Amino acid sequence: MFDDIDDLYQQVILDHNKSPRNFRVIEDADYVAKGHNPLCGDEVEVYLKMDGDRIEDLSFQGSGCAISKASASLMTTLVKGKSVEEAKQLFAEFREMATTGNIPDGGLGKLEALAGVYQFPARVKCAVLAWHAMAERLNGSEESISTES
Ligand code: ZN
Repeated sequence: MFDDIDDLYQQVILDHNKSPRNFRVIEDADYVAKGHNPLCGDEVEVYLKMDGDRIEDLSFQGSGCAISKASASLMTTLVKGKSVEEAKQLFAEFREMATTGNIPDGGLGKLEALAGVYQFPARVKCAVLAWHAMAERLNGSEESISTES
């Protein structure tokens, strides 16, 4: 699908990198999930505001490459309002796509802009960083995640 790394930077990625959605701190967040990708230098903090089992609001802060930032931005738009289980399911499907290129039957909407990363193993870590941090936190881990672990 993608011939080279330049093709990864599609319009969706460029847009979310330039104008990331929900790029802010939630002062009264219930959870703050931290992720670090030392291979690329990506750093992310994901803020989660819960309403029972539902993710009422989420946002992120951090610095990193276009892929990591666009993926985190897309995540905040897609996960907001979802239940914890739905968010984990979406992460599972996204991770599957990012590591194999397989898009699930129902599709992944704008996330499909990142479908080509599976061809670039170092970039997969950029793409899943914020998701991985969020999922670990929702699983109850207090640790900040590093993609090297
Ligand atoms: Zn990166």
